[in-house]
Amino acid sequence: MGKLVIANWKMNGDLNKVNSDLSYYANHPATNKSNVVLALPYLYIVWAKHILLNNSLIRIAAQDLSHYRDCGAYTGKINGSMLKDAGVNYVLVGHSERRSLLGENGQILVDKLINAFDNKLVPILCVGESIFNREAGDYLEFIEEQLSGLMQIPQLKEMIIAYEPCWAIGTGKIPTLLEIQEVADFIHSYMQKNFPYAKIAVLYGGSVTSQNAHEILAIANVNGVLVGGASLKTADFTAICENV
Ligand code: PEP
Repeated sequence: MGKLVIANWKMNGDLNKVNSDLSYYANHPATNKSNVVLALPYLYIVWAKHILLNNSLIRIAAQDLSHYRDCGAYTGKINGSMLKDAGVNYVLVGHSERRSLLGENGQILVDKLINAFDNKLVPILCVGESIFNREAGDYLEFIEEQLSGLMQIPQLKEMIIAYEPCWAIGTGKIPTLLEIQEVADFIHSYMQKNFPYAKIAVLYGGSVTSQNAHEILAIANVNGVLVGGASLKTADFTAICENV
């Protein structure tokens, strides 16, 4: 399979945008591919999957799932089996906005990952250092610490790790290609050492645009990109997908 392009719409869009953008993507050769994934707000997923993308190859991700596994008295929560039921293939876990705005911590993220694996969803775990860790030079230790919760997950099989330095998200700043390659190599080696039986992809995310996607996707150990802001503009997102 080619490299992955995952769009993270975050809390953006409305039904008009979902209708127009997804109909466009479903009919465009650059985007109608199984390695193009759209992480949509929950509310639009069923409509997108069963109506707009019915005969397309595009896959759907959710932006989060509950750390509670079983159905029950958890008002407002969505669990992994509901996502599976809705036709979701992937789920973001531990996006830096959820870590910083909602204080999601290690054990909650481990529970979310377990819920994803138990429901045959491929989790996309987001990791990445702050500008302080980058400048202090201890960013690899910081990322290793973020990955360490995976040791509690015996069912880890296929998963995606998205390297998203916090200082690059939505800022227009990106690490150099060598810096991206260094962290991608580090994550691949960590996963290979600890989970040699698992199928792992490592993505880069943070200010990916139609201008820089080509060179980022050309890094051998980078298996794709996670795109926030630029995924909201159909022309830019389509241009990014032309590279895979
Ligand atoms: C993101 O939030 O996952 C992201 C990659 O955002 P942006 O592309 O806007 O930096």
